[in-house]
Amino acid sequence: MPGQRWTRDQVGSLLHQVIVERKSLSELRIEGKTLAAINNQRQRLKRAGALDHAFVGRKLVPWTIGELRQLQKLTAEYGFSADCIAQLQLIPGRSKFAISKMMGRHGLGNPLVKARAQQASRLTGPRRRELEQFLLNAGRFASNDEVARQWGLAKQTIAAYRRRLGIPLSWREARSFDGYRTERRKRDRAFSAHMRQRWMEWRARLQQRLYERKQELERLPNALARRSCRSCGERWFATNEFFHVQVKNRGKSYTFSMSHTCRMCRSHQRRERARLLRTPGDRYETAA
Ligand SMILES: [Zn+2]
Repeated sequence: MPGQRWTRDQVGSLLHQVIVERKSLSELRIEGKTLAAINNQRQRLKRAGALDHAFVGRKLVPWTIGELRQLQKLTAEYGFSADCIAQLQLIPGRSKFAISKMMGRHGLGNPLVKARAQQASRLTGPRRRELEQFLLNAGRFASNDEVARQWGLAKQTIAAYRRRLGIPLSWREARSFDGYRTERRKRDRAFSAHMRQRWMEWRARLQQRLYERKQELERLPNALARRSCRSCGERWFATNEFFHVQVKNRGKSYTFSMSHTCRMCRSHQRRERARLLRTPGDRYETAA
């Protein structure tokens, strides 16, 4: 059944919700219109160029080998979550959703770490004694790498066993291990400098965007509700753009709650908290 024509007010309200309030489809509400009708109207407005690039729709760009390698490195080597990779734009243009989907598809991230941990803890009782016997006898002259491959364990695990058993590393192994450590430290330093840089850029961009938006909204004839940040005291507007909004599904209805700290303070606090939780021995350090 064809619906009622859209009134000027309805179109105006939709434009406001999409452009100013930056609502996603599921959040759009127009009295007397279904979500499908709203979606169609939004598409029409977009084609007509009325949406000001606020809503560009989704386009599918296949992952390149380079991106996949980068993802593998970030998850397996540095243990980053999809959220972190997306926030820092370590793989430019990929959303958190896209990243976590790709991680799932390739078994990257937590499941892998978990599987490895399980493998390590399973090395008890007879199998443990077997490995010790092997290291003391036939495997005495095999490299950590070779033993690790043969036993399906990490190289570091083998090295730890050897240390405990008092079997000194050969000169060559000790040297290559040192070289590896130096190389690794160098790479880690470069990486954390890179990360600091990315964080600073990201924060600067966010700050600039928020101030620009604030000025834009201040010029609007209809004043939006203001909301002060409890942390920095800045008087922003009470919208999702400035304050994180949590949506909770309560059976049939949804409840919304708006953060008391602005997006900038919130990201800073979250980052500080993460930094404090991390142990000093961690491989990547952070900038405050
Ligand atoms: Zn604030």
